[in-house]
Amino acid sequence: MRFLLFLAALFPLCASAQPNFIIIFTDDQGYNDLSCFGSKTIKTPHLDQLAKEGRKFTNFMVPCPVCTPSRAGLLTGCYPKRIGMQQHVLFPASTRGMHPDEVTIADHLKAQGYATACIGKWHLGHYPECLPRAQGFDSYYGIPYSNDMNHPDNKGKPRVSRDASWKDQDKDVFNWRTPLIRNEEIIELPVDQRTITRRYTDEAIKFVTANKEKPFFLYLPHSMPHIPLFVPKDVRDPDPKNAYTCVIEHIDAEIGRLMDTVRKEGLADNTYVIFTTDNGPWLHFKNHGGSAKPLRDGKGTNFEGGQRVPCIMWAPGRIPANTTCAELASTIDLLPTIAQLADKPLSNNKKIDGMDISALLTKETKSPRNEFLYYTSRGDLAGIRAEPWKLLILGNQRKGQKNAKQTTHLFNLDKDVAEATNLAEKNPEKVAELTALMNKRDAEITKNARAAWNTTAKHPWPDTIQ
Ligand code: MG
Repeated sequence: MRFLLFLAALFPLCASAQPNFIIIFTDDQGYNDLSCFGSKTIKTPHLDQLAKEGRKFTNFMVPCPVCTPSRAGLLTGCYPKRIGMQQHVLFPASTRGMHPDEVTIADHLKAQGYATACIGKWHLGHYPECLPRAQGFDSYYGIPYSNDMNHPDNKGKPRVSRDASWKDQDKDVFNWRTPLIRNEEIIELPVDQRTITRRYTDEAIKFVTANKEKPFFLYLPHSMPHIPLFVPKDVRDPDPKNAYTCVIEHIDAEIGRLMDTVRKEGLADNTYVIFTTDNGPWLHFKNHGGSAKPLRDGKGTNFEGGQRVPCIMWAPGRIPANTTCAELASTIDLLPTIAQLADKPLSNNKKIDGMDISALLTKETKSPRNEFLYYTSRGDLAGIRAEPWKLLILGNQRKGQKNAKQTTHLFNLDKDVAEATNLAEKNPEKVAELTALMNKRDAEITKNARAAWNTTAKHPWPDTIQ
């Protein structure tokens, strides 16, 4: 009896020893768009504080330069092609999604007794069969796809310029018809995007507070700074030149509010916070898009500006403060890494591409990852990184683009992070070696690729709600 009492007393200690995980994932934020990553115009004191108390990752990649495939890779630890999710982004009329049989970070942690929540933009299929509650999350609150997509058929988008939208945001916000979802039901149509970042934070604070006694996993994919940009009235700078800055600074302030709760509830010494973004900045939108400087290009491209993203990892007492890791790593490494940090390694039932990079969080050591494949936003093989070398073969991968000119690029990223000097012509052997290597790696993925979920059924959501 005494032994049982001893065990009962010990159990809460064991349970609370399992660390909590919070992944904060912004949308289309550039490599340069935090003051701690070099921005001279955007002030992000709360994220800077996380960096000061944690570790910045400066060579951190996403597996695709657009939303849907990037998110599929983050949650499953796979190149999107391995799970059939490589073909660009989903739209309101899409009838496919991430297969619920895939093992997500949420599935893995839920099986270890974690409380799990997804709050924010999902974009991995909006039929009930592939929404978050079918993918390991206990609850979901957010928008099912991008904030520039209209329910039910993506038609009727406003034609005003982004600057005009910002100047008259109280009017333009209701020109969009993006739904807000609770679990599998529409609760607001159109969602009021002015307050969405703040409402995500309110939900996140509620979830953290309610689950402070048990281990939890919070996945918080903010729907901005993807356009159209909106903020609450009390923080809006009416000058459209400052629209993007205003949105990032608002997200930063809201992250500060969530972190206040984490600290106040005494969770700081047992919580990992990982901040990153799904792809590079949408440069086309100028002052409504960000900057990837000093990297080349942005969203939608395979240059570093499209796929290298800012990343901060924070866990006081576990991750050394005010440090930087320049080793190669990716969002696809987070699943096996989190599994390791939670002390429950993954089963080997499904092949994945992610690697356990937990040593990179705490030590000065080489990354287990020395290669990384690049795929276009349409899922075509585009290149490979191997140590400092990066090969990109662009231009004619798409069927039907017979006349597109193929260009071969070879960069040494250690010496030329801006990808300014193409070394391909001078190094034909390196080009041949890397071409063979990327084709070999891609052939294995193609051969073993698993199918995405899809259906011929009509979507159950009504076209309008009362
Ligand atoms: Mg995106």
